[in-house]
Amino acid sequence: MKAVVWAGRNRLEVQDVPDPRILNARDAIVRVTSTAICGSDLHLVDGYIPTVKKGDVLGHEFMGEVVEVGPGVRDLRPGDRVVVPFPIACGACFACEDGLYSLCENSNPNAGMAEKLMGHAPAGIFGYSHMLGGFPGGQAEYVRVPFADVGPVKIDDDLTDEQVLFLSDIFPTGFMGAEMCDIKPGQTIAIWGAGPVGQLAAASAFLLGADRVIVIDRYPYRLERARRTGAEILDYEEVNVLDALRDMTGGRGPDACVDAVGMEAHHPTPAMYAYDRTKQAARLETERPYALREAIMACRNGGVVSVIGVYGGFVDKFPMGTVMNRSLTIRTGQCHVQRYTEPLLERIRAGEIDPSFVISHRMPLSAAPHAFDLFKHKQDECNKVVLTP
Ligand SMILES: [Zn+2]
Ligand SMILES: [Zn+2]
Repeated sequence: MKAVVWAGRNRLEVQDVPDPRILNARDAIVRVTSTAICGSDLHLVDGYIPTVKKGDVLGHEFMGEVVEVGPGVRDLRPGDRVVVPFPIACGACFACEDGLYSLCENSNPNAGMAEKLMGHAPAGIFGYSHMLGGFPGGQAEYVRVPFADVGPVKIDDDLTDEQVLFLSDIFPTGFMGAEMCDIKPGQTIAIWGAGPVGQLAAASAFLLGADRVIVIDRYPYRLERARRTGAEILDYEEVNVLDALRDMTGGRGPDACVDAVGMEAHHPTPAMYAYDRTKQAARLETERPYALREAIMACRNGGVVSVIGVYGGFVDKFPMGTVMNRSLTIRTGQCHVQRYTEPLLERIRAGEIDPSFVISHRMPLSAAPHAFDLFKHKQDECNKVVLTP
């Protein structure tokens, strides 16, 4: 089959790789009908997430048709149309029982690798490094889906692939980012990053009752898409974000701040950006946490900082004194997608939201390297690419 393969730093290729096969009783094989490129894939492609190897198949946002199931999969059969959550979860361990699916204790065969870096291991994730299981991803014609009786959501009505594909990651991720803010009526939520996750976090914050949402970025086309959710926007190259947020909130600051940027934040102050960029390149810190630092500084006293942007290792100059003295709560996590798929599917069915508004490009799988280029360099107003094998 054809698949998108990591061929070295900033080098992707569409290659012929072996077809996946059923390995365990609870596996299914899914023929991919739609898959997407995610902002978090960019951290893999450019080598900032450790333990990616040449030949690894990328992709963790995909859906398709079940073509084969193992003998332990009772509720799926060939022909079923499914969306597959990006974290792989057994559904029965201590973490899964608690709804913490991205921390499943049974789905990461390389847990030991992750324990060395993180203390304890998170779940396996499709197409997301060997430390997170080394599972071949969904930017391919076919995928092996472990624990297929737990994650995949059956779509048995006429919703299009584009309407439901993002249940695999970015809609639940954006929604969880908003949910972690504990939004109460009248509140103002600020979101760093107007990419697809930031856009869906903004839309979700309104679904959860936020009064005002303010989205921060520097690309006009992304800010414009965020504005269409009803959010106010700030271009951080034009205004001082901390001053602007203070002015917009009567001096108090937003009630909650969402970091939807993560480890490769850009910085408007050249000196600070150079500091983090240099330390990151020398592997003295693994992140450029500028958005996170600013979100912490901006948040009102006693507020929540919700982190859904991806981090891989260690951050520098973390304003812990601010967090402690101003009683801030930091909440974070890889999304526990399985917790959200059914309720969010209901919201899509009910017409409350159509997450396909984030799509800017539709391309064949064979164009994936070019699509990654457009997305990474923000060319052609590239916001979200859907690939079809
Ligand atoms: Zn993703
Ligand atoms: Zn589990």
